[in-house]
Amino acid sequence: KSLPYFCRGPVVRGFGRGSKELGIPTANFPMSVVDNLPADVSTGIYYGWARVDSGEIHKMVMSIGWNPYYKNTKKSMETHLIHKFEEDFYGQTLSVAMVGYIRPERGFNSLEELIAAIHGDIEEAKKKLDLPEHLKLKEGNFFRTSV
Ligand code: ADP
Ligand code: MG
Repeated sequence: KSLPYFCRGPVVRGFGRGSKELGIPTANFPMSVVDNLPADVSTGIYYGWARVDSGEIHKMVMSIGWNPYYKNTKKSMETHLIHKFEEDFYGQTLSVAMVGYIRPERGFNSLEELIAAIHGDIEEAKKKLDLPEHLKLKEGNFFRTSV
């Protein structure tokens, strides 16, 4: 239906839930980008491709969820790029191609379980994105535009 879905926008500060401390930093999009999501893109975990400014294209996992800051009335989009960056990139332009859906959002009984689930999502994303039909999105026009 709505996938693949392409969007880009500046990286803004999140609500400091300490994703970085878990070793899984998530780059947040501003509300303007989130509000443009098609209505049928439901909350949950997605995989795809992402790039900061005109840098390299990396595999990513994205969580679309309800934003506690807005009393769960607004969606949030948080992208974890599967790459080790030497520095933060707040304010820079993030381009993402959402390619596929992994699973719905769910609660966890412990932080360890949450982290294990995210590592599972990352492994699944890596595997799925090696499929030819997904690799070709990386080479498509969207990432040819320089920002
Ligand atoms: P915040 O609550 O501000 O989103 P996080 O702990 O989630 O804080 O860290 C997110 C920030 O970390 C991103 O905005 C980005 O600048 C930086 N960062 C560094 N490496 C990555 C990565 N691999 N994926 C996403 N963000 C990263
Ligand atoms: Mg974050």
